[in-house]
Amino acid sequence: MTASDASTAADHAATVESLRWQKFPVLDDGFVALVDCMGDDSSVVQAARVSYGEGTRKVSDDRQLIRYLLRHAHTTPFEMAELKFVVRVPMDCWRQWIRHRTASVNEYSTRYSLAIDSMQGTGDAEWRSQASNNRQGSAGLVPASDGGKLTQAEHELQSLARKVYEDRLEAGIAREQARKDLPLSTYTEAYWKIDLHNLLHFLALRMDVHAQLEIRRYAETIGQRIVAPLFPLVWEAFLDYRVEAMRLTRLDREVIGRLVAQSAGRGFPASHDAFLAAQDPSWAELARSRERDECLDKLVALGLVTRPT
Ligand SMILES: Cc1cc2nc3c(=O)[nH]c(=O)nc-3n(C[C@H](O)[C@H](O)[C@H](O)COP(=O)(O)OP(=O)(O)OC[C@H]3O[C@@H](n4cnc5c(N)ncnc54)[C@H](O)[C@@H]3O)c2cc1C
Repeated sequence: MTASDASTAADHAATVESLRWQKFPVLDDGFVALVDCMGDDSSVVQAARVSYGEGTRKVSDDRQLIRYLLRHAHTTPFEMAELKFVVRVPMDCWRQWIRHRTASVNEYSTRYSLAIDSMQGTGDAEWRSQASNNRQGSAGLVPASDGGKLTQAEHELQSLARKVYEDRLEAGIAREQARKDLPLSTYTEAYWKIDLHNLLHFLALRMDVHAQLEIRRYAETIGQRIVAPLFPLVWEAFLDYRVEAMRLTRLDREVIGRLVAQSAGRGFPASHDAFLAAQDPSWAELARSRERDECLDKLVALGLVTRPT
């Protein structure tokens, strides 16, 4: 180990210690905290060098190697690092979280213990409208004047649900049965251990704009507050090649080709009508096409097309 390796390892150990058990708040009463971390950027590099050979070792090489591995989905070196968290999450969010099967989990038992006396509340200005173009999504906020009534009703429902639960316990009902009418907004806690490869997969899916806002807040907190300082080179590559990358399908590329051909020197951005003229023939007959909308989003982001007015 060189002197520079030793100081990097000491810096990493200090970062782990500064993060360990620090509760980063999420939502109104949730949190994520790092419990333990095995490995750092160099663990990814070390594992990869078994395949690629030691060669000349400089920090810049490590960075390039990590970026190459991430770009080309050479995933196993990222499995060499592991992180353990303790999290406090409302049950509806947890239900999405627990679909990620590649983690080890131990959850608070409401058969064994009293359900946590906390439910996620939604503020007057936090109610979201149903999206019209995505059945799974939300779009925009309901005016706070309407939200106030919803928040009040939520508060009454949560208080009643808690009271019914506690009355059942007082009547001697078993905890495992008394809990059945607690709302999905009730917080649960769990230990969650996962390797870095599968954590990045979780973060890519759950930081994405298509993920529900609540779980997005958890993913962003884990990513930005914990993974970024612990694995700075991996995090940088992850942002560049996963989070902020754009995937162009064959159909998207052909739309761009037709747009370029039909622009005839008029330049970009092309109009929305030009986009419709260049769209994939299989979309043209559809009144609504999600794939066309996704293609438009990409081309607008690239500055190639303007949105319809
Ligand atoms: C925006 C969004 C919307 C969603 N909507 C729905 C929905 O409406 N309904 C619904 O049920 N789910 C929904 N999901 C959950 C989604 O389908 C996945 O179950 C979840 O994201 C976990 O992804 P994963 O399986 O890749 O992750 P993990 O379970 O962590 O697995 C990681 C990878 O390991 C491999 N793997 C793990 N287990 C197996 C296995 N048994 N067999 C083969 N390969 C395996 C796969 O390659 C997988 O990608 C949604 C997820 C997102 C992000």
